[in-house]
Amino acid sequence: MAAYECPVCEYVYDEAEGAPREGFPAGTIWDRVPDDWCCPDCGVREKIDFERKPA
Ligand SMILES: [Zn+2]
Repeated sequence: MAAYECPVCEYVYDEAEGAPREGFPAGTIWDRVPDDWCCPDCGVREKIDFERKPA
């Protein structure tokens, strides 16, 4: 599983944890997150801007 970080606020989407309050259960892979999903913390960055964190 991978994790992706918002370049603005350092929010991290971890596939293993998902984002339950966003409607993505634990284990939801990044590919299943919609392209127009915005960062839930800062709201200014979309999925495409997130950077994959090194394992
Ligand atoms: Zn953010």
